[in-house]
Amino acid sequence: MPMMNRRDLLKLTLAGAFGSVAAAKHRRLLPAVRSGTTLPATYVIDYGRNHLSDPQFIARLAEAPPNLLHLGHDCPFTAHWGPRAIPLPVPDISQYRLLTPSETSARSLAIKTMVRELHGTGVQIIFPYINSQQMGGDIEKRLGFWEFYDHWDEYLSFGLPPRPSADPAEWLQRDPAGRILFNNPAAYPGYAPQFFYSPCPNNAYWRTWLRFVVVSIAQAGFDGVFVDDNIIHCYCRYCRESFRHYLRSRYTPRELRSGFGTSEADKIELCSPADKTAWAKAQPAFIEYLISRYGRGELEKRFQIADLTTPSNLDRVGYNFLERPAREFIASLEQKYSPEERRRQFGTADLSRLGIERPEDRLRWFETQRFWAWSIGDLLVDLRRAVTPYRQGFVFVPNWGSMQTVGGVEGRRIQGKNVAEWARGSDYMMFEEDYRHGIPGRAAAGGFTVHDIQYKFALANGVRPVVLFGGPRSRANVELAHAEAAAGGGGCFVENSSQFGDVRRLYRRFYETHPDLFTGYQSIAQVALAFFYNQTHMENPDHLRQIYSLNSALASGHVLFDFLTEETLHLVPGYRLFILPSVAYLSRAQERAIQQWMDRGGQLIVPGDHPTFYEEAKPRPGPAFGSAPADVSALRSPQFQWTGREGLPGLRGYAYGKQEGRHARVTIHLLNYDLDATHEPEPVHDLPVSVALPAAFQHATLGKLSAFAPDSSEVLELHGEVRDGRLSFELPELRVYRLVEALMTAK
Ligand SMILES: [Zn+2]
Repeated sequence: MPMMNRRDLLKLTLAGAFGSVAAAKHRRLLPAVRSGTTLPATYVIDYGRNHLSDPQFIARLAEAPPNLLHLGHDCPFTAHWGPRAIPLPVPDISQYRLLTPSETSARSLAIKTMVRELHGTGVQIIFPYINSQQMGGDIEKRLGFWEFYDHWDEYLSFGLPPRPSADPAEWLQRDPAGRILFNNPAAYPGYAPQFFYSPCPNNAYWRTWLRFVVVSIAQAGFDGVFVDDNIIHCYCRYCRESFRHYLRSRYTPRELRSGFGTSEADKIELCSPADKTAWAKAQPAFIEYLISRYGRGELEKRFQIADLTTPSNLDRVGYNFLERPAREFIASLEQKYSPEERRRQFGTADLSRLGIERPEDRLRWFETQRFWAWSIGDLLVDLRRAVTPYRQGFVFVPNWGSMQTVGGVEGRRIQGKNVAEWARGSDYMMFEEDYRHGIPGRAAAGGFTVHDIQYKFALANGVRPVVLFGGPRSRANVELAHAEAAAGGGGCFVENSSQFGDVRRLYRRFYETHPDLFTGYQSIAQVALAFFYNQTHMENPDHLRQIYSLNSALASGHVLFDFLTEETLHLVPGYRLFILPSVAYLSRAQERAIQQWMDRGGQLIVPGDHPTFYEEAKPRPGPAFGSAPADVSALRSPQFQWTGREGLPGLRGYAYGKQEGRHARVTIHLLNYDLDATHEPEPVHDLPVSVALPAAFQHATLGKLSAFAPDSSEVLELHGEVRDGRLSFELPELRVYRLVEALMTAK
């Protein structure tokens, strides 16, 4: 199969995602990045609070200006407090006060000047911080955002829309009972002496306000905005209405009837009985459990509440904190009661199936979670629409959170997080990882810290990842962190330290001098691993566990592979081998696509459980692909590996290709993770590399073969060959990172 064909096969789009048959009109436009790799970039995050008064700030950045610069609350109107002299409340209320309109004008002007001067240093994209679910203040005392709301009309000259009739208390997320929902603790330390509220991204008033904030950011000269948190567990009236609109966009009436038992979307509610935190909070025994676990008075002190006896006090502890105790409380009930007693008290013997015992309820719970994620995507699209008349090409960088572990992803799938749903409104997407032990290289606990999941999964979803982490580092660690972005198909390593700016300068220069080495490539891997994120919303954690373990085994075993998602399953004909790990829920269309590919010689491996349900959570008559083998050890063969050298588990390789008429370029990125903060990398010598080529170039003539490195302007010419459908060569030395480019001509 010629390498271009994979993306050409987009024409054969099948309704892969669950219930998306009717979604054509709402299906997101594929971002340009879906057409291949993009140019990596350098990125600095700087939350300094005195940028406007620090005369050295701009000079410091000018030493090694990044492509992207991410600032904190340096905007005319902060999203969560309105116009403030400083961004967060402090006990001395005179410091943290509402700016007068004339002070707001002066501050806007100062910000404009700063942004212009920053651009002058060579920074390309500058953006400040907003938060889609944070509002600070005090409802009772009418402080913080309420103070601003009460003075709203004084700021109309800034283009503020008319003051909303509903008080900001009506803009907040709500729990199933209609009470105000706090995602974070109300008495969040950074907000003291005021409180942290969670407005709803679907609320019309909050959206109107955010649109204004983003437009004011564009008018200050910024090129984009970072959108933090994006956490939603909301059952407010806006969410309930939007949910029906969402269902209608994804299902035909017939599909609704088949999946939910009614063809009328108006009769389908968000699935709160499956929300285990909400469920636990409604159980009187949960209070006793919390006291037994934390001791009497501890939570009251920590969260500044009088006691735990009223629901609204318990609410102020915050959903995010209560999630884990709720899970453990439910596990304790499993221990405490017999199955008969559980059935009698709670309606089900298996408490992990609370609220999702019937297929239609599981489907509704799946759609509830995916709807929350869709809401974030919808908000981003809405904000983009608002800002475009003021600034073309304004970029959105939402924060997804951590993807490094299965637990991190499992926790987020219930918070409104789904990369595919957000991608339609995102240019870049942040993955915020471990600040203490996140630096790539040898891990203290053994093995290696690698951020390949983030880069690969983002590339599969057509979004550029920006990966943030920290920890003790050497110069070589920092080189490796940049190299991960270069090798991962685009995106950025987010630097939160001023150390090693010279490495940033080298990488930026490398990217800008050689855009042809990075832009518009497709992976040439012959192995694909299914990463069907929607399985997590269906409460099938085994899929994720298998992906993480396979990802690590394949990568350290030097196998080249890609992720295929529900939306890119139609690309499976471009692969020789497809791994479908514990995909319990598989649609008929997905099954058909895989079967047709197998009929033409595709090799399927099914480690773990075989699909036993259809997409509506209804059981299949028997498991799908029953005869497919489970063993993945066959992958460790020269056919799929990029090197045959054993004993180098810290090496990683990526291979991409690009076809230009009869000419092709293949790029191979090689990374050495065998280093840490105190040890220089141990260079690998005479490394044999051999990769299988796409069909069109299996008989090509090899032209130039060159090895590049960012820290050297010298290009190393290599000798290699194309034989038996493979490109092979030997790399004399690999210290941290090398990029090898092969130019080929078809015969
Ligand atoms: Zn809501």
